[in-house]
Amino acid sequence: MTRTNLAGFAEVLRAKQIELSRSGRSLDSIVIERSADVLEEAQYKSARELAIAGLNREASVRRGVAMALARIQNGTFGSCVCCGGEISQRRLDAVPWTPFCIRCQEAADLGERVFSEVSSNPSWARRDHLAGAHFAVMSA
Ligand SMILES: [Zn+2]
Repeated sequence: MTRTNLAGFAEVLRAKQIELSRSGRSLDSIVIERSADVLEEAQYKSARELAIAGLNREASVRRGVAMALARIQNGTFGSCVCCGGEISQRRLDAVPWTPFCIRCQEAADLGERVFSEVSSNPSWARRDHLAGAHFAVMSA
């Protein structure tokens, strides 16, 4: 990575940092509305969850930007923090604050997806339970 490239990324990252600090939204800005109506209450709840997910995303980008600026400082910017491999220029152009190369990012995404599928799908746990019951009958 050339000096010019690094300076360019530092500029993009600082601009992003300023943009994020200006938005300045926080969890306090989420109003908890209540309703006696079950349907309405469910709508309020999903709107809250959406707002919280947005804030979490924002906070993680903010952390990512700060860490990327630190990596520019210590000269490790452009290397994957997971495997140490080089992060492609195209990937850095798209997401300058990414700490991972595409391979490590895909592995991380896959792990997250599997985890959320298992935890959002109680029937998997039920199937285990049934298998256990079957086993109990067999051995009785
Ligand atoms: Zn990697």
